[in-house]
Amino acid sequence: MSHSASPDASLEAALRRLAGVGRLLVALDFDGVVAPIVTRAEDARPTPETADAVARLAGLPDTLTAFVSGRSLASLVKVASPDPRTLLVGSHGAEVRLGGEEHPVVLDPEQEAALATLHRVLAEVSSQAEGTWVEEKPAGRVLHTREAAPETAAAAVAEARRQLAAHAGVFIKEGKQVLECSVVHATKGEGIAFLRQVAEADAVFFAGDDVTDEDAFRALEAGDVGVKVGEGETAAEFRVTDPAAMAQTVELLARLRADLTARRPQDQA
Ligand SMILES: [Mg+2]
Repeated sequence: MSHSASPDASLEAALRRLAGVGRLLVALDFDGVVAPIVTRAEDARPTPETADAVARLAGLPDTLTAFVSGRSLASLVKVASPDPRTLLVGSHGAEVRLGGEEHPVVLDPEQEAALATLHRVLAEVSSQAEGTWVEEKPAGRVLHTREAAPETAAAAVAEARRQLAAHAGVFIKEGKQVLECSVVHATKGEGIAFLRQVAEADAVFFAGDDVTDEDAFRALEAGDVGVKVGEGETAAEFRVTDPAAMAQTVELLARLRADLTARRPQDQA
């Protein structure tokens, strides 16, 4: 393995090819990809080099950028301070912001009832498990366990799963030290498919670090580029070690795309 932070040769070749497509969508998970993982979710901030590269990409012709996050849209906007041109997908696809316009979640009465049950169950479980807490999202609740002892965390997750198993309207995903529960069925795979359509993209770049990003990697098609950040099993074709290496990757893509765009005849730009 190279000690250089720059992308390896096969990834660089893939980026070079990707930079030449007609319409390009560059979609990134936020936490663990654009921003290093921090203990308090509200303290997460983009790596400056990545934020710069994303802004440069957003300014290029036929190039769209997006953040695709499990965070609520409100939380994502707060920590990412995204360029208004960057498309946003929050709550794993349940909420979107396009061209600065927000499309919030609208719940029907059954979903409202499921959300109330979900809240009650997780609040109860969390109150019995020291170091865990419940995050509120418009269409769901998240049980966070990263500050709990491992055995407490495992027991809390198991108990929440047991109590919620009978609720048909509650969709559960397990992430890194979180149990994500939603009353709207949404995956990052659907988020990517939606963005691909909105962007009318000829090819998509996607990078993610968590289990829920695997849905997005599986939604990639021939000609797309998927990059897993960090360790763990993945459907992505490429892998980088951490958000710092991701910054190098996005910077290289921005540079290649800018070079090719500059060389394209005006009437095609
Ligand atoms: Mg992540």
